[in-house]
Amino acid sequence: MEASLHGQKALVTGASSGIGEGIARALAAAGAAVVVNYASNPDSATRVVAGIKKAGGEARAIRADVAKEAEVEAMFAEMLAAWGRIDILVSNAGLQRDAALTEMTLEQWNTVLGVNLTGTFLCTRAAARAMIRQGVVAGVSKAAGKILCISSVHEVIPWAGHANYAASKGGMKLFMQTVAQELAPHRIRVNAIAPGAIQTPINRAAWETPEALKSLLTLIPYGRIGVPDDIGHAAVWLVSDTADYVHGQSLFVDGGMTLYPEFAHGG
Ligand code: NAD
Repeated sequence: MEASLHGQKALVTGASSGIGEGIARALAAAGAAVVVNYASNPDSATRVVAGIKKAGGEARAIRADVAKEAEVEAMFAEMLAAWGRIDILVSNAGLQRDAALTEMTLEQWNTVLGVNLTGTFLCTRAAARAMIRQGVVAGVSKAAGKILCISSVHEVIPWAGHANYAASKGGMKLFMQTVAQELAPHRIRVNAIAPGAIQTPINRAAWETPEALKSLLTLIPYGRIGVPDDIGHAAVWLVSDTADYVHGQSLFVDGGMTLYPEFAHGG
């Protein structure tokens, strides 16, 4: 069975760049109508929406800071008023504010937890409320809704100098699993994708010079950096009915980064 999302309505947070953009384009190519959420750059969101429409898809941009409850609620209200339902939430918005623990400010800590973890809570809660209300609709999907969290290999790999980020992604792992347990009776599927190194603005310093890229590749057994399409394709499968029995899982899409590459030639 081919992964088709025809007739489904999706919302992707942080979809005006990087992985979120890749997921939004991939969901739209599979037939879903997509809300392209963005925080502050309307031009980028407009570009993504235009690209989706040019490819024959349906999309609209909605601004909301996912860390702010009222803005999240307003975004979902706008989507439901326009399209009547939500079948797919991809909680992708995220950021880093790196610092050594002893230098880390409370603001750096709160900003990262606020967007990556609280943002995921606020969007998941809003989506789940709507999905429970609408229930399973024959001919749309076998599930009442699908929720996909974009976590990171750092939901399991500790990362010195990034305690706020690793805590947010580790927290996201148990949030996802707990919510999966809780929402299963409502036929809402909840999963995560844990990307490895994907070439996007968030990690530019890790790939923009040949030296940085060479060093990064020592961590990737498969020998290349990932691209947003790698995550987009996995997302389409995970939220489609072809993955209907996959629930509460983190799918690592990381070129083998979690295979302890240093043990390939030692240990
Ligand atoms: P990115 O910086 O291109 O994308 C992050 C997006 O989130 C941006 O569009 C940004 O505007 C948006 N955003 C930030 N704060 C927001 C807020 N308050 N409200 C709404 N949107 C907000 O980087 P990316 O690599 O595409 O990151 C996407 C997700 O993937 C993040 O959650 C990140 O942690 C995760 N991730 C990335 C990598 C990687 O190697 N690139 C690896 C693992 C996980």
